[in-house]
Amino acid sequence: MHPTVKGAAHAAPCIRHPHAFSHKDVFLDSMPLAHVFGPVASGRLGRSLGLDLLGGRVCSMDCLYCEVGATDVHTCERAPYVPAPVLLDELARWRDAEAAKHGATPDCRTPSASPAPVRLDHVTLGGSGEPCLNSDLARIIAGCRDILPGVPVAVLTNSTLLHRDDVRADLAGADVVLPSLDSLVESEFRVLNRPCKGVTARGVADGLLGFARGFGGRIWLEVLLARGINDTAENLALLRDYVRQLAPHRVDVTTLSRPGASPRALPVGRDVLARWSDELNTAAGCPPTAPAGHGPTAAVPDDGCCRAANATNAEAPVPPVPLIMGTEALQEAVLRSITRRPQTAPQLAKALGAPLDAVRTALDGLTARGACAPVAETALPRDTDGEIFHAGRLPRNG
Ligand code: SF4
Repeated sequence: MHPTVKGAAHAAPCIRHPHAFSHKDVFLDSMPLAHVFGPVASGRLGRSLGLDLLGGRVCSMDCLYCEVGATDVHTCERAPYVPAPVLLDELARWRDAEAAKHGATPDCRTPSASPAPVRLDHVTLGGSGEPCLNSDLARIIAGCRDILPGVPVAVLTNSTLLHRDDVRADLAGADVVLPSLDSLVESEFRVLNRPCKGVTARGVADGLLGFARGFGGRIWLEVLLARGINDTAENLALLRDYVRQLAPHRVDVTTLSRPGASPRALPVGRDVLARWSDELNTAAGCPPTAPAGHGPTAAVPDDGCCRAANATNAEAPVPPVPLIMGTEALQEAVLRSITRRPQTAPQLAKALGAPLDAVRTALDGLTARGACAPVAETALPRDTDGEIFHAGRLPRNG
């Protein structure tokens, strides 16, 4: 039997996973959406609409730094965790609602300075786990193209399934693939990423190399550093040699910018990020990118995955688009966002294009009704500006 996500996604919240709420609890009265979120302002992907292909914590890894907590279904088995028709129906409803609100279908040709939030730079396939585990991946990519013609499709992946022919074929329809590989030192890889049995750093690296050779789109490699775990000279030397062979279109070196699954996962310093970014991009033959995922520069919200620092702003920040929504709608938007991962008020304001004061008011309102709480007792209860991370806590009936 396939390890379906139903148990994980609809289970009652527990003490260990207080934010693993049922999707049916996410309430947007006018338009309930379980698997479409955003758009968010991503540094790498611009204005990016996220699709959750898992519906819960389903992953082939259980990274120490994962923003959404421990993996519930630890597997390398592919299955239609969120079936293509379900996800694409939601995406079409989202598109229709946006078109009705703003008088235009969201696309990537709309100027980014447009007064209405209709510009979309990417549809990003991710979620609270590994999106390539969804065996409907090819249908989902094709469906995104039909529903939002012209909008590039990006896929986030932890690279563990890229050795498979079926996954490579599915990904052929994507415009950008953003694979991650944090360490080529086996012991570091095991400690930091906690992969499924039989998954090795070497195997993942070889799978990614083979995939890259046959892929016609862009590849943006991400390396996340955790202090005292994979920030070693040995790892840097191995990765330097590796990116020479891989020749990705860019390398993003990141670190934690939000609380991870384990307090053992701590961010590295800005100087370490800068050095690694410089060395790896030089080795890969890429123009240098600003290191990201640390302190105030990490304030741009996620690409749609739960890697702690996928919030890179290595490119120019996306200008916020004024958000036209009432107090209640803003509260709901904030709640949806922080239920996926803890964020500070400034991070939320930037993601939603909403005034900071309005976001703080929304957080106060959510706190008063018990739907949100400050993050405590983690490695990163606050960012470097002293801003508190907030986590969503949706009320349950019964
Ligand atoms: S960070 Fe990404 S790869 Fe790691 S456990 Fe979370 S979802 Fe999986």
